[in-house]
Amino acid sequence: MGLDAAWIRDHVRDLPDYPKPGVVFKDITPVLALPEAFAAAVDAVMEPFSTVEIDKVVGIEARGFVFAAPIACRLGAGFVPVRKPGKLPWHVEREEYALEYGTDVLELHRDAILPGERVLIVDDVLATGGTANAALRLVHKLGGTIVGCAFFIELGFLDGRRQLGETEIHSVVNY
Ligand code: AMP
Repeated sequence: MGLDAAWIRDHVRDLPDYPKPGVVFKDITPVLALPEAFAAAVDAVMEPFSTVEIDKVVGIEARGFVFAAPIACRLGAGFVPVRKPGKLPWHVEREEYALEYGTDVLELHRDAILPGERVLIVDDVLATGGTANAALRLVHKLGGTIVGCAFFIELGFLDGRRQLGETEIHSVVNY
């Protein structure tokens, strides 16, 4: 099954004012619940990187894990979680990033990526880019080389790409 943008738009549920006023939340669970669509979505997210050498696929908590784990398996790469503070049990690197009000933190195990390893960063949605930018900085702290960033959905009107510099960025559907 191939997924086209129109099909995805029809099956991603838009939730206005969730989790707060002014945000239209993209609920991807209707796509994930359809076996063929889930597999096709995973394929589509990884497709531009399918012939590239990748050592580690970094998934961003929590919906990034849904894509990053099967992509790592398919690419023959390791899976590495980037998580909210206090969730990872071993020694971590931390990076703060700005939210609309205040800041948040993401963490990565210090031994999760070796210097020089080639890393793909995966998340479900690229919005303002602050989250992916923090993940990028964490990978750089450990000496990893970023091969690219892959997303299922990009909210193009928020221009998150601006936060990711020269990094190769791919998204399956752009709003
Ligand atoms: P940002 O840092 O603004 O690019 O936000 C990206 C992160 O927040 C991703 O991990 C997404 O899962 C989540 N996110 C941001 N905006 C939305 C949205 N409109 N719908 C669903 N998830 C979102």
